[in-house]
Amino acid sequence: MLLIGSWWRNRRRRKLCAEPFPDVWEELLHRNAAFFSKLMPQQQAKLRDDLRVFIAEKDWEGCNGLKMSDEIQVTIAANACLLALELPEGMFDRVRTILVYPGDYVVPDRSVGPDGVVREGPSARHGEAWLRGPVILSWSNALEGGQNSRDGRNVVFHEFAHQLDMLDGVVDGMPPLAGKAQQQRWQQITRQAQAELHHDLRHGRPTLLDPYAATNAQEFFAVATECFFERSKAMRKRQPELYGLLSDYYRQDPAGRSGK
Ligand SMILES: [Zn+2]
Repeated sequence: MLLIGSWWRNRRRRKLCAEPFPDVWEELLHRNAAFFSKLMPQQQAKLRDDLRVFIAEKDWEGCNGLKMSDEIQVTIAANACLLALELPEGMFDRVRTILVYPGDYVVPDRSVGPDGVVREGPSARHGEAWLRGPVILSWSNALEGGQNSRDGRNVVFHEFAHQLDMLDGVVDGMPPLAGKAQQQRWQQITRQAQAELHHDLRHGRPTLLDPYAATNAQEFFAVATECFFERSKAMRKRQPELYGLLSDYYRQDPAGRSGK
């Protein structure tokens, strides 16, 4: 049954990718996925195929009156698919639904303080990734993140990095890796980088990573992913071990792309 299912899925995907790529989508890629022009032609071709499958196979829902459009879908799909461009197929197959709000959205927040008191109040968000659940995004933030590829901020990269982290069912800032040696290397480099980040923040020094990375290991991976793709040359220079780790994981070398 599983085999027949994947046979149909692959057939459907091949049919989809055999159709001509819409001109308007090509324009959107260049406008709203700033990294796109830096990719090599074969990477661009793969991204076009990946994003078509991504758009066709997710449920897209506009929230708070947002009308779903090609621009929203192409922008979000292109930025998400960059992360998985060189990874094995099917990395985001478990994400079934993408909810998009026009801007920041307010959710009821619930936190338990050290005194054991639960405080609930609204908090404004740019995005969220749920384990075995939807990805929720603010369209204005996703668009800004896609158009500016050098500021180290991209909410789509951030939320889909969380989805990669969640692939093994544990949200711990470490995506599934091939073996024990790789896991140890991951922990050693990321823990060291987190310790340095905490140290710099305590001493009021400017940091390459957004201070939000200091929240916990999972936010560290999501923020480091944004920085890896958007401030790649600075990361390669200032944090070469972290850059090398992420470059091995994503199988990409964004700092080596021309013009960045
Ligand atoms: Zn996060």
